[in-house]
Amino acid sequence: MTQTLAVANQKGGVGKTTTCVNLAASLVSNGRRVLLVDLDPQGNATVGAGIDKDDVGASNYELLMGEAAPEAVRHCRTGGGFDVLPANGDLTAAEVGLMEAGEGREKRLQQALSSVRAEYDHILIDCPPSLNLLTINAFVAADQVLIPIQCEYYALEGLTALLNTIHRVQQTVNPSLEIEGLVRTMFDGRNNLSNQVGAQLLAHFPGQVYRTQIPRNVRLAEAPSHGLPVLQYDRASRGAVAYLALASELLRRQQAAPASAGGVR
Ligand code: ADP
Ligand code: MG
Repeated sequence: MTQTLAVANQKGGVGKTTTCVNLAASLVSNGRRVLLVDLDPQGNATVGAGIDKDDVGASNYELLMGEAAPEAVRHCRTGGGFDVLPANGDLTAAEVGLMEAGEGREKRLQQALSSVRAEYDHILIDCPPSLNLLTINAFVAADQVLIPIQCEYYALEGLTALLNTIHRVQQTVNPSLEIEGLVRTMFDGRNNLSNQVGAQLLAHFPGQVYRTQIPRNVRLAEAPSHGLPVLQYDRASRGAVAYLALASELLRRQQAAPASAGGVR
């Protein structure tokens, strides 16, 4: 059974891409087969996985426009051991193309992934920093949403809009979509604000906040410039240890409540 996880938060810079790339590598190191789908025209996940985004051949633009199959778009076995469906600036045009497409435009990604889904244990979708049609496509293709939250002053702002969008998708195109969890990123335990926001999240979303906190760690910020997940860049770093712990927690949660069970948690 494949778990398809949309990693989303319409705020930029909260750690979506960092979480996608490093969770993907950490799941691979647990023996899982993983596909990372870059759905952000910025192509940061593509670059972070070691792919030259300006020389990818066919990308998710062609995939969403129905011009290329995933088998022709994916890059297999990147440095982190996972496969990637890459993106670059072309994806901006896909957003416009989707807007102009008619019926079923929010189901393009779901349909495109169907031929390769069974090859993977986990498909992680790195969403753009907005609640646009690309993100809606991710929510329709996904079983669950993972929400990275940066523990800072405005952390909770915008969360309502995100939850409303998820709710709307649940009521229309994807009734079985669930919130998998919230992850605290760039956490600094010495900072009162980090602790306050962390506590606020636990109070608002009981049972849904990951126990693993991702610390602020410079190795996590450096790794993408080497085209590697932190696990391959500096295995002993606090960032690498944290993402391994996050993967273990995700696998434990999945065992306790498999996606196939459905329902809202
Ligand atoms: P998003 O995809 O939500 O826009 P990113 O994952 O790209 O966010 O992170 C934004 C910036 O913060 C990037 O430069 C990234 O390298 C850095 N970053 C992310 N997580 C951490 C962390 N835990 N520690 C240090 N830097 C981080
Ligand atoms: Mg990003």
